[in-house]
Amino acid sequence: MNFSEKKSVTLATRSGDGVHDDNNIVLVIHGGAGTMSKETSTPAQRRAYKVALSNALKAGYAVLHDGGEAMDAAVAAVSVMEDNPLFNAGKGAVFNTAGKNELEASVMLSKSPSSHPAIPESRRGAALTLLTRTRNPSKLARTIYLHPELVDHAFISGSTAEKIGERLGEELVDPSYFFTEQRWREHRRGLGLPEEPIPNPTNGDYSESRRSADLIDLRDPEHQSNGVRTAVPSCVSNKNSGYPDLPLDSFPTGTVGAVALDVRGCIAAVTSTGGRTNKLPGRIGDTPLMGAGFWAEEWEHNGGDLRRSGQWMLLPSWLREMWDRFHGQSSDATREKTGKSAVGVSGTGDGDYFIRQSTASTLARRMQLAGESVEEASKQVVQDLFSDGGIGGVIALDNRGNVAMPLNCPGMYRGVVRADGIPKVAIFDDDVLEEIDND
Ligand code: ASP
Repeated sequence: MNFSEKKSVTLATRSGDGVHDDNNIVLVIHGGAGTMSKETSTPAQRRAYKVALSNALKAGYAVLHDGGEAMDAAVAAVSVMEDNPLFNAGKGAVFNTAGKNELEASVMLSKSPSSHPAIPESRRGAALTLLTRTRNPSKLARTIYLHPELVDHAFISGSTAEKIGERLGEELVDPSYFFTEQRWREHRRGLGLPEEPIPNPTNGDYSESRRSADLIDLRDPEHQSNGVRTAVPSCVSNKNSGYPDLPLDSFPTGTVGAVALDVRGCIAAVTSTGGRTNKLPGRIGDTPLMGAGFWAEEWEHNGGDLRRSGQWMLLPSWLREMWDRFHGQSSDATREKTGKSAVGVSGTGDGDYFIRQSTASTLARRMQLAGESVEEASKQVVQDLFSDGGIGGVIALDNRGNVAMPLNCPGMYRGVVRADGIPKVAIFDDDVLEEIDND
């Protein structure tokens, strides 16, 4: 049976803002944004990414189509990409300067999943960093989110998270599982070190290489001038320069993310990454930082109540001005009717810029307080990143099924599937989303 011809299940449920049915399910994904080049990549390379994206969309769609939770659909899509070495997450995670993989992941929901009614609304999400043994960080983030009685925190790192995950049935692997030759070469090249011999990850060579990388003094200016660099820029951090002509994925970004809208109108954002190539050990990026690289939220839009609320004077003046301009100061008639809005966001690119600009939550605030559409708000935050020299993109989805995928660099692996079940994917900035022939 053709994937898109699966029997349609009609699951109409009543939620706060009306009836949702399976006609409104949407899944949008990304597999990283960066400096990929159409000219120097081969059709086979491009196809490999498109097939991988399409497979991730199918995995998530299957969950949504069966009436499953947005979070479960997003985790299903992300974990397919985590298992694929093409992407910088899970199996394909990049190395830090010490030749080690430190993985990060997050989940966030616009409202609690109906499958777990005991999860308090205030829980919102869970974020993990500095993981070294978790095969699928997105699955661990989901598990930890669902167990507030064990981890009553929004953000947790390393072995504590992994030990709890193991107790709850998450798969841990030996760190050598994350070794891939391509990422190793990128790591060595980035540090100006010989790429060969390629160490065997399961024996002493690899430990030796990691130890010698630990000894590199990155503060030593002589070492720097010999070509050693710290984090390889995921994109060109120069607002005035053109883009370098690099083969597909040669300076990997490849963080993966998914945002899903389910039949109940819940939106979930799930993101997973190995971080940036040759990041310093212990560096934490935007992927596990709530409000920076990910966000999901639902709010009441109740006309002018915000102006009268205690929060009004806490808002920055530019936001108050925008609110007034959009809503009018006194005319209740011009204000939107009461109802619920929701959005989910997952970002990819120069995470340090996302952190400094709180990109993901700012996007939601622009929608909530300035009345911008998801397209307008997404475009603006991605432009704001670029103004500071940060390159990347976001995927965002609202509870009406509107999708935005703006980017400010040559490409972002991305895709969407809607209720018709037809996965559509794109890579370069000027690509139109297309269905691929999967034979
Ligand atoms: N945002 C990620 C980071 O800075 C990298 C990426 O998106 O590829 O860790």
